[in-house]
Amino acid sequence: MTTGFELPEEQEGNKPPAPVAPDDVWGAPPPTDLPPAHPPEEEAPVAGVPPTQAELAAPTSASAPLPWEPTEGAEPGGPEELRPVDLVRKWILDSVSVLQPIELPLQEAQGCVLAAEVVAQLDLPPFSSSGMDGFAVRASDVAEATPQNPRQLRIVGRVAAGQQPDATVGLDEAVRIATGAPVPAGADAIVPVEQTSLQGEGVLVLAPVKEGAFIRPAGQDVKAGGLLVPRGRRVAAPELGLLASAGYSSVLVHPRPRVAVISTGDELVEPGRPASFGLIRDSNSFTLFGGVRDAGAEPFLGGIVRDDVDELRETVLGLAIRADCFISSGGVSVGERDVVKKAFFRRAEIDFYKVAMQPGMPQGFGMIEGKPYWGLPGNPVSVFVSFEVFIRPALLKMMGRHDILRPEVTAILETDVSGPKEKTVFARVRVTRLGGEWHAASTGPGQSNLISTVAKANGLAVVPPGTETLPAGTKVRVMLFRALEDDG
Ligand code: AMP
Ligand code: MG
Repeated sequence: MTTGFELPEEQEGNKPPAPVAPDDVWGAPPPTDLPPAHPPEEEAPVAGVPPTQAELAAPTSASAPLPWEPTEGAEPGGPEELRPVDLVRKWILDSVSVLQPIELPLQEAQGCVLAAEVVAQLDLPPFSSSGMDGFAVRASDVAEATPQNPRQLRIVGRVAAGQQPDATVGLDEAVRIATGAPVPAGADAIVPVEQTSLQGEGVLVLAPVKEGAFIRPAGQDVKAGGLLVPRGRRVAAPELGLLASAGYSSVLVHPRPRVAVISTGDELVEPGRPASFGLIRDSNSFTLFGGVRDAGAEPFLGGIVRDDVDELRETVLGLAIRADCFISSGGVSVGERDVVKKAFFRRAEIDFYKVAMQPGMPQGFGMIEGKPYWGLPGNPVSVFVSFEVFIRPALLKMMGRHDILRPEVTAILETDVSGPKEKTVFARVRVTRLGGEWHAASTGPGQSNLISTVAKANGLAVVPPGTETLPAGTKVRVMLFRALEDDG
C-alpha cells in the first residue's frame, strides 16, 4: 500500500552547488542547545491515490477534526468511547505536516526526500574524453590501416587525465591520450593502444577505427538544463553519485524529524544500573529509539521522568527547542500516577482516548508548542505496536515520504489467534514463505508485557474487529516490520 503525498508547488528550488558552512549543518549528534527544531511547512498538500490512502492523505492541519463516529451507547469523547484504529491513524496523519526543506550536505541527505528537482547546470560529462588509453586521430587517416599495411602517424603531443591537450590533431597526426583525458581538437576517434605500435617519433596504426570510436561525448549522460533527480525522490546511493558528478555538494531535502523520547515511571531504571527488587528496566526508550532511527528520523533520549507532573512538563518543554516531536511512554491511563494525562490533559493540549486495539488501547496525541506529541501506554508491546501503527507512518509523512505504511502480505495462520471481539488485534507472528505461500505462526501469548514475543516476530497479524478467534488455517493480513532479507 502506498500513500501519495504531493509536495507543495511553491518551494525554493535546488540551487547550483553552494558551499555549506559547517556551522549550518545539523545532522550528526544533535547539539545540546541549538539549532531550533525544523518548522513544518505552511501547508502540506497531500494527494491520495487509492481510496483508503486518499483518506490518509487529506489536507494537513494542526487541529484536524476528529473523524470518527461515537461508539454506540458511549458518551462521545467519554472514557468508554473506543476509537477505530484506521480513523485514529487518519486523524494523526492529518495533524502532522511535512517538515520545511533545508539544504543538507550530500552525505547527510542520504535517505531524505528531495524537496525540489535538481537539474544539470552543465553538460554531463562536461567535455568529450577518451574511453581508452591510445591515440587520438582522425578516423579518415587510418581508414585503410591493416596489420600488413599499417598507417604511420606523427605523434604531436600527449594528454593525461586531468590535463588539457597540448596539441591539435591535423592530417596524419596523432596525440597520445589516456582514459578520461579530454579529446584534442581535430581528432574524431581514439585508436586503442593495443592496435598500435610505436616506431621512432611516430606510431603505426594497425586497424581502422570508426568516427567517434572510444570517444565519450560531452553531455552524453545528461545535457545542460536536463533533469538529474526529480522532486520527491528519496536520495540513495545512485542519486548521491549522480548529484556529486554534476557538482552538487548539498541539496534541498525534507529533514529528518528530531524525536524526543521520554519514559515515565517511578519504577524505571536505566539498563546499565542496578535494579533493586520491584524496579524494572526502561526498555521503551530503546524500542522507540530503534524504531525512530529505523524510520529514518533522529531520536534522542530525554531520559526517565518520575511520576511527577511538574517534572514531566519541565522536561518536555525543555526539550522543545531541539525536538520536532515527542514520544513518551507510560502514564496515559486513569491511574493515580498517570502523569502524562495529568500534565497535559487540563490544558487540552493533548487528547487522551481509547483505541479499539489490542495491545495499545489508551493513547494520547496532540500538539505541544505546535509539535506532535504522542503519549503511549507503558507496556512494552503496546509501545512497539502503537509506534508501528501510528507514529512510524507520521514520521515518514513528516519526511515527505510517499510509501508510509509497512508492506503487508496475506498469510495462512499456523496457530489460532484470539482477542477481544470489539478490537483490532495485532498479534505478533513470524511469517515464512513456504511453497509460494506465506505462513504466519504466533510467537507467544498476547500479553502486552512480553517483549521477547516481539523480538521473535517479523510481522503483526491484523485480526479485524468483529472476529474473536481466527483459527489455524485461515488467511490473515500481516504487516511486515522487518525486511525479510534482514531477518537472520
Ligand atoms: P503505565 O502505562 O505507566 O501504567 O505502565 C504500564 C506498564 O508498563 C507498567 O507495568 C510499567 O511498569 C510498564 N512500563 C512503563 N514504562 C516502561 C518502560 N519505559 N520500559 C518498560 N516497561 C515500562
Ligand atoms: Mg507508569
